Amino acid sequence: MTAAARRVRARARVTGTVQGVGFRPFVYRLAHEHGLAGWVLNDEHGVLLEVEGPAPELSHFFDRLSADAPPLARVERVERLLVPVPVERVDDREPGFRIVSSVRVGDPDALIAADAATCDDCLAELRDPGDRRCRYPFINCTNCGPRFTIVRGVPYDRPLTTMASFSMCEACRREYEDPGDRRFHAQPNACPVCGPRVRLLDAAGRTMAITPRIWGSDRQPSGGDPISALAARMGEGAIAAVKGLGGYHLVCDAANERAVAAMRARKHREHRPFALMVRDVAAARQLVTPDACGAQLLISSARPIVLAPRIAGCGVAESVAPGASELGVMLPYTPLHHLLLGDFAGDALVMTSGNVSDEPIAYRDEDALERLGAIADLFLVHDREIETRTDDSVVRSVTVGGRRPLMLRRSRGYVPESLTLPIGAPAPLLACGAEQKSTFCVARGERAWVGHHIGDLEHVATLTAYREGIDHFQRMFAVAPELVAHDLHPDYLSTQYALDLDDLELVGVQHHHAHLAACLAEHGVMEPAVGAIFDGTGLGADGTVWGGELLVGDLRGYERAGWLWPVRMPGGAAAVRQPWRMAAAWLREALDAEPPVPAALGGTVSVSDWHAVSRIARVPELSPLTSSIGRLFDAVGVLCGAPARVSYEGQAAVELEALAWTAGAQASGGGYPFERAAGCVLDPRAALRDLVSELDRGVAAADVSARFHAGVAAASVDAVTAIASARGLETAVLSGGVFQNRLLLERVAAGLDAAGLRVLVPQRLPPNDGGISFGQAAVAAAQ
Ligand SMILES: [Zn+2]
Ligand SMILES: [Zn+2]
Ligand SMILES: [Zn+2]
Repeated sequence: MTAAARRVRARARVTGTVQGVGFRPFVYRLAHEHGLAGWVLNDEHGVLLEVEGPAPELSHFFDRLSADAPPLARVERVERLLVPVPVERVDDREPGFRIVSSVRVGDPDALIAADAATCDDCLAELRDPGDRRCRYPFINCTNCGPRFTIVRGVPYDRPLTTMASFSMCEACRREYEDPGDRRFHAQPNACPVCGPRVRLLDAAGRTMAITPRIWGSDRQPSGGDPISALAARMGEGAIAAVKGLGGYHLVCDAANERAVAAMRARKHREHRPFALMVRDVAAARQLVTPDACGAQLLISSARPIVLAPRIAGCGVAESVAPGASELGVMLPYTPLHHLLLGDFAGDALVMTSGNVSDEPIAYRDEDALERLGAIADLFLVHDREIETRTDDSVVRSVTVGGRRPLMLRRSRGYVPESLTLPIGAPAPLLACGAEQKSTFCVARGERAWVGHHIGDLEHVATLTAYREGIDHFQRMFAVAPELVAHDLHPDYLSTQYALDLDDLELVGVQHHHAHLAACLAEHGVMEPAVGAIFDGTGLGADGTVWGGELLVGDLRGYERAGWLWPVRMPGGAAAVRQPWRMAAAWLREALDAEPPVPAALGGTVSVSDWHAVSRIARVPELSPLTSSIGRLFDAVGVLCGAPARVSYEGQAAVELEALAWTAGAQASGGGYPFERAAGCVLDPRAALRDLVSELDRGVAAADVSARFHAGVAAASVDAVTAIASARGLETAVLSGGVFQNRLLLERVAAGLDAAGLRVLVPQRLPPNDGGISFGQAAVAAAQ
């Protein structure tokens, strides 16, 4: 027997996101192409396969196994070993290649894929009048469609999804069972005959139109097509609640000022910008100017909301994003969205979370009808249940060593992709996260799963979603926690959740250390680094409120090497929603005297309130010390004209950044001077004195903002490089909610890079508190 003809057999274990993404049919086709015998199956660790054939063919097969994997698959590891060719078959070959049914043993690791936008093949069928799924709003295949949002358990199989109640018709069943078909084992496979249906309801919940069971000109329902009927009403200014992939959206014509303003009023959402949905990238370019990275994000299968600079006079109603320099835009990601945008006569739809104020987004039909009844004139609903409420993700492109995405909210399209802990957890663990923009994280060994964005835990409904989310993840990934990591803040509801768990080992992790550790762990860095953690507020180890921290540390521990000059936060948390209080505190600190009410606050804050707050600021019991840079940005924002009272945290800082961009972000005259006091304390008092005197002289607020940003950036670069060189460190981490500010992030990163430091910023997780749970997990595992 020649070497080339010699048959060998190999067994391989493939791990990563390899279920529900068409991986087995891919292996099947690949084996056929190389003339290999064997089998493949899904189990709870991923995909297991054996292939047998001539040695060179086997080696080609394995080369292509990772390289040519299906678009939604994420192959993390292929471990293979040679196994003996069964003796009785050396001459009598195994007949062909088989797909063996799923087996269920042990703990599930098999990763469930995130939801993916409708693929081009499915879109072509959706628009083909001759196709049996023409205009069917639930068309999907192994390369696209719902995943995480419909999963009830593992392994990922139809009975364990919310598609369980729909039994496939004969045509769908044939596709599902044919390994050569692109719908082979596509669990949500459906068609107009057997699948979910869309219904248009009026505000009272009465059906106005429903998708027919079979499409064709002679069988249209009496009410017409529900989606085109809705699109027509949108054109007339109606507000609708539309059931999507992870929850309900509130939708209206983005060009209709009256409709948008009405939606804002009914939703009780004063300022926070609304996201938009447009047909395609060309339509997006009519509204915003995304760079290449932003455009790539728009068309990615995760289909996040992409923030990009808005085009002045782009025709979007003023109340969509008042005062914002950017717009959040996304492209359709379900067939239903494609049909709706296709039928809609206008250019852009407002597509914002279906909730009132800050409550969690509605995702159950009855709840949606009840909660959104006072907002929406119409409801577009369907009968495929959403198992897990999942908000749209939000991302923007930044320049940090080249163009790259910066995650601001990680949810639909990304969750539940796993992350790797550089030091594996010694026992199954749960990390409870923070309070705002809350997420949780479960981990087993090196694998960690960060949950979907839950939101601010202060609402009862959000807290319920948080508890349910933790239970779901623990079941899905078979994590029965023995270790529980939590924030040091005793009042956070996430901390209280941790403390209420019985008989588990608790690990308290300082908030800013968690920010630092999250970024280090994401990049797999174990050695110490210097981190500039610029944040809103978090409880410090000394009992004061931190948020402008220069930490030296690694996954195990940290040391506070520097911080922002601390001031009193008048009235504590009240200063977050009333940033004028921070302006009062900082002016007192900088001017060393009782400052008069600044011109920018004229009319919005009374002289008596101003002085009352100055008095409160002198009472330590009422006004904790804070080193938060977020609060400093708030104060400067107010001095530059942002509202004295805001409707979401950081609003004044967001408006301050927008102002700087209107000045082209150019700081003519350079940044305001910060001093570096002993112990690497950043002292902004001289900068504030300059800033106030420029404003008094009538210098434009936009220019003042640009100079302030430049000053903070220069001071940060100076302090970080000083610490790094004193300690012999080569790596710098930039994280914390303040680094959502693109101008600041890019300036500081460029400065540190020029100084020869390796700069790490969060990549797959947000720099804000959405990344805290992963950092807590990394610290608890390492300690
Ligand atoms: Zn598809
Ligand atoms: Zn069917
Ligand atoms: Zn934070």
